Amino acid sequence: MMNSSRPDARRNAGPYLYGREASAVAQVLESGQYGHTGVTEEFERRIAAFLGVDDAVAVTSGTAALHTALLVAGVGPGDEVIVPSMTFCATVQAILAVGATPRFIEINPVTLCVDHQLVLEAVTADTAAVIPVLFGGRAVNLGPIHCELEERGIAVIEDAAHAFGSYDGTRHVGATGATLTCFSFGPIKNLTCGQGGVVIPRTSEQADMIRRLRLLGVTQSQTERATTTTYQVDSFGLRYQLSAINAAIGLAQLDHFDSTVETRRRLWCIYRDALGPLEGVTLVDVGPQTAVPHLCQVRVHPRDQVFQEMRSQGIGVGVHYPPNHLQPAFAPWRRALPVTEKAGQEVLSLPFHQHLTEDDIAHVVAVLGRAIETVRAERHIGRLA
Ligand SMILES: *Cc1c(COP(=O)(O)O)cnc(C)c1O
Repeated sequence: MMNSSRPDARRNAGPYLYGREASAVAQVLESGQYGHTGVTEEFERRIAAFLGVDDAVAVTSGTAALHTALLVAGVGPGDEVIVPSMTFCATVQAILAVGATPRFIEINPVTLCVDHQLVLEAVTADTAAVIPVLFGGRAVNLGPIHCELEERGIAVIEDAAHAFGSYDGTRHVGATGATLTCFSFGPIKNLTCGQGGVVIPRTSEQADMIRRLRLLGVTQSQTERATTTTYQVDSFGLRYQLSAINAAIGLAQLDHFDSTVETRRRLWCIYRDALGPLEGVTLVDVGPQTAVPHLCQVRVHPRDQVFQEMRSQGIGVGVHYPPNHLQPAFAPWRRALPVTEKAGQEVLSLPFHQHLTEDDIAHVVAVLGRAIETVRAERHIGRLA
């Protein structure tokens, strides 16, 4: 009975619409122009202005952003890319898409992010790029070792899919000097376009390359194309431009981003306070003073049983993520990563989205507490039997 009364606690994540998204989409539909239009360009300008950077280039997804960034950084066959195993599989697939190989590394067990030492230890003669993942929204960066890496010809490509809006001190993620930063605006991210992504370039040459790449290597504008009998393909390219339909959703979301920041921080802190007295769980701190939290994760043992118990009570728990080095598709690059494997067995993502109320969170935490007790009692009985 308690389950059905809390439908929002059943969902692990999801978009939060502020009300103008649908009419913004309707306007684009009525215009008859759905592709890359002025709406997409306005979205890019607004993202750049928000982040405090010169430029932002919109693409179809976070995965496309990572793929494009790797291409622009010149990463290809024979190259190695340093990446934490603890990330969404999209990060790794983007590396394979350019024909490079992932070199999986460990994470800091507290932040679930890479740190400087781990990255430097993994560098080889073949390393062409590092992809730090800003896990859960945490505003980590490789600032102090950027220069050293770039001097060695290694690009720093941030996977900031979780971290739109997060701060590093006084600068937004995306403005902290990485070679390139990639955001995702997928359905469950802090800001959504429905589906979409952005690459933050650091130079205008990078920006031009991304703009060519995302339009199938065709550099002519729509107006130029309308006046000639042909079109010119100048370089390799893909169909990666963000549609005006998706950009319109993103623009409507951006109008209310202050509210998103406030809500996500507030909900995360409510969780933190409610989880405080609970024994046997450790909250993964994302640093809510500077981060816009994307996940609310705890570590708990035995996670799988607690997960099942909470699911059976109607709570939308999830796991971010099963480690990539253990995935069948990435087996050729498997290596022993004990810290990541332990985290992979313990992390549990509690429902975290902007429809949650304080009561929902109290309910989730109460169910978590009971689940831990139930699971531990069963294990105890199992041991006695
Ligand atoms: C969501 C996500 C991506 C991919 O973004 P899409 O927009 O879904 O393609 C990449 N990395 C991480 C860490 C993500 O969470």
